[in-house]
Amino acid sequence: MTGLIRSWIGAANEADCPFPLNNLPYGVFSAGDEEPRCGVAIGDRVLDLAALQSAGLVPDHGFASPALNPFMGAGPQAWAQVRRTLTDLLRVGHETDAVRAALHDRAAVTLHLPFHVAEYTDFYAGRHHAFNVGSMFRGPENALPPNWLHMPIGYNGRASSVVVSGTDIHRPLGQTKAPEAQMPGFGPCARLDIELELGAVVGMPSQMGRPVSVDEADAMIFGYVLLNDWSARDVQVWEYQPLGPFQAKAFATTISPWVVTGAALEPFRCASPPREKELLPYIRDTGPMLYDIDLSVSMAPQGCIPTVLSRTNAKALYYSAAQQLAHHASSGCAMRTGDLLGSGTISGPEEGTHGSLLEMTWGGRHPITLDCGRVRTFIEDGDTLALHGHATGDGYRIGFGPCSGTILPAMTFP
Ligand code: MN
Repeated sequence: MTGLIRSWIGAANEADCPFPLNNLPYGVFSAGDEEPRCGVAIGDRVLDLAALQSAGLVPDHGFASPALNPFMGAGPQAWAQVRRTLTDLLRVGHETDAVRAALHDRAAVTLHLPFHVAEYTDFYAGRHHAFNVGSMFRGPENALPPNWLHMPIGYNGRASSVVVSGTDIHRPLGQTKAPEAQMPGFGPCARLDIELELGAVVGMPSQMGRPVSVDEADAMIFGYVLLNDWSARDVQVWEYQPLGPFQAKAFATTISPWVVTGAALEPFRCASPPREKELLPYIRDTGPMLYDIDLSVSMAPQGCIPTVLSRTNAKALYYSAAQQLAHHASSGCAMRTGDLLGSGTISGPEEGTHGSLLEMTWGGRHPITLDCGRVRTFIEDGDTLALHGHATGDGYRIGFGPCSGTILPAMTFP
């Protein structure tokens, strides 16, 4: 494994910095009242790619636009070329006035949604999560649905619901029915939850009618974000049969502000777990396509310090993003630049490794006592939930930046 690539920006060389020169994640930022444009995180700075483009230091990939989509659609050769150029410009000993002039303090800029989300699909590719939730609802012997070990199952979500980290979320309203109740009711969700997921961001599109192989799918993926698929459990349990999640998942999905590229994660590839049933050829593993990324969830009631609720790892997934994408396109479904694929909740097998409150509290039966002394089963108004993630290299880490949101009280009808 390669070690830290040293930069002339000192903060980028610190071992716990999420954004060393090895990372170079892309995002969209604004400074003061200027227009949002594309940038790259390095150390404690953001490098303005629109300014570098104007200066002729990087090719024109639409970096002055408020979304990464033009660059994402330019394809793997363009991604590799820009990465090489940025690595050269920022490498120790290569300091220039032109690049120095394009740097902003990261703490002083506003981060926006990094790309226009074309469509959003959410999968269910974490085996331990599927088993835990299935056990709760159907018992351990029927926990996994019969299709689960044969394909990554998912549903089509709402691109309009995807927001960047730091966006406040109103508690959703919805229809619910207690098992013993005669009639359903309508009101604020009472069992509001998170789902700790990894989001894959599609760069290269595919043609309608044409399936893609797992290797092609892997090459189409531009990068990854942390993704919190906020979930209204009481709404979900009443509405989900027979067509799956609908309003329970349609109110908000939060993503981290930086897209970490496949190139940055390349040293952290790892193999999928042993296959209990042999996969059909079109989604069979062709090499290591999961990533070794440490993940955690924290919760902070208003005015309280955060408590880490759970720690897990992205290698606990059963299907890779490439397998999810290949399955998605296999019917002939056209995939578009800016498609976002949620992995499904990432949980490990043991207590302390769960990616949802539903599992941590086992359906609300075992409340959690936070470090500040407050007790929670599900999320209360004013609570801030945050996901964190990083891969650990030799003397450096590849971080994502936080994926965080605060819950506000439900809105009422006008
Ligand atoms: Mn989900």
